Amino acid sequence: MHENQHHKIRTILIDWYNINKRELPWRQTADPYKIWVSEIILQQTRVNQGFDYYLRFVERFPDIKSLAESDEQEVLKYWQGLGYYSRARNLHKAARIIQNNFNGVFPSNYDDIISLPGIGEYTASAVSSFAFNLPYATVDGNIFRVLSRLTSKDIPIDTTVGKRFFREIAQQLLDKKAPGLHNQAIMEFGALQCTPKSPNCSECPLSLYCEAYKLNLVELLPIKQGKTKVSNRYFNYLFIKNGDSTYLQKRTGKDIWKNLYELPLIETKEAVELENLLKSKEFVRMFDGVEINIDGNGTKKKHILSHRIIYASFYTININAENEYLANFLKIPISELKSYPISRLTEIFLEEKFTNV
Ligand code: SF4
Repeated sequence: MHENQHHKIRTILIDWYNINKRELPWRQTADPYKIWVSEIILQQTRVNQGFDYYLRFVERFPDIKSLAESDEQEVLKYWQGLGYYSRARNLHKAARIIQNNFNGVFPSNYDDIISLPGIGEYTASAVSSFAFNLPYATVDGNIFRVLSRLTSKDIPIDTTVGKRFFREIAQQLLDKKAPGLHNQAIMEFGALQCTPKSPNCSECPLSLYCEAYKLNLVELLPIKQGKTKVSNRYFNYLFIKNGDSTYLQKRTGKDIWKNLYELPLIETKEAVELENLLKSKEFVRMFDGVEINIDGNGTKKKHILSHRIIYASFYTININAENEYLANFLKIPISELKSYPISRLTEIFLEEKFTNV
């Protein structure tokens, strides 16, 4: 594409955006903190789902100071259900770094912004351009798709070469005088007009400049090299009732749901039925010397995450006494379960359990 074409495409995108854009709360602000929060929420979350989370989050944590001074557990609670919890942990960590190293003021240059935890090239470009009008092109999935179709290049967008190639195109196409507006416009265009399935080509203002449209290749682009392998995990959760109390543990280590709480868990290599779970070493150790009474046959749930499928079984176990092993868990009143950050999977089980009681 030549500069002349770039100029026309930019103008069309801005005109299209001014007519078609959605009114979203984070578009009404120039506050880099709020723009940053919205971009982190939107990294792996659809706009519709992220909307309420964003409003709740910035109401409770309206600025860097309030986020930096809160404790991580509360931040995770506000994130509950959104998934990818490292986003919340990094937001909190970064807020503390800004508070301590940047006098509480959000940094206004790209290098400082990208140095913060949880901020990669995309988010740094988004905050730099939306809040500070710096000339950095944002390149997210929507933009990879639009550019791959406009140029009709069959370079896979999920490879290093493909990413580099389309980033360069995005940077050349960027309107250096209004980078924030341009980035917003092309992303919105990808989200609403040049959609993954059934893009609205017949009414597209860019169709004249779209090589894929001219060559009838729209359905085939963008190209992706390969899908990430999905692994299966088998979780057996124990909702242990000891009078009015129950038990939780905090997830630590490098795994999903780090720092969230969960019911005592026995993970197995494959699906096991209750009869075999009762004979497993972990179960025997957990209830050694304690009389147990199990409600029913358990509840099965299939929970899909981006790279994992979790086959979960939940068992409700009643006890009257505890041993040393159980005493190592966090014992809490059942009525306080709601105040702990937990995975959406466990939340669904508990919601059903307490509505069925
Ligand atoms: S013509 Fe179709 S494929 Fe090309 S930019 Fe427009 S919507 Fe996307």
